[in-house]
Amino acid sequence: MKFSPSQGTAVVNDRSILLRRDRAAAPALRAVFPSLAQLRIELRFDGSSGILPVPQTHVLHPPARAFFVFPCPYADCDGQFDLASAVSAALGAPSLCTDGLLECAGQRAGGRASRRPCRLNLHYSITATRAPA
Ligand SMILES: [Zn+2]
Repeated sequence: MKFSPSQGTAVVNDRSILLRRDRAAAPALRAVFPSLAQLRIELRFDGSSGILPVPQTHVLHPPARAFFVFPCPYADCDGQFDLASAVSAALGAPSLCTDGLLECAGQRAGGRASRRPCRLNLHYSITATRAPA
């Protein structure tokens, strides 16, 4: 099956297939962060383009994949948010938490063959919990 990059929906399908493949290939959290009991990732969205996506909370346990790329919640956007460095920052911080802001660098389908920058803001908050020693 071939995807044509000129068709918006095909790009989105392609993206989710790639994300699924990468997630499946990622090691388990407990292999990467052996002392971790739980990782809580909260995502809030903010932007200027109409209806905002609903907030998301992801709670990851040790058997989950250590994969922290989240697709932009807009179905017509090809962007994604990579929180890998934010997760590392949380695990390296004495408080075991961090928060910050990322902007979607993807493009959204804007009607006939035109695309426009998404620029959706993601406010993330990451809290790690260590297993008792
Ligand atoms: Zn986006």
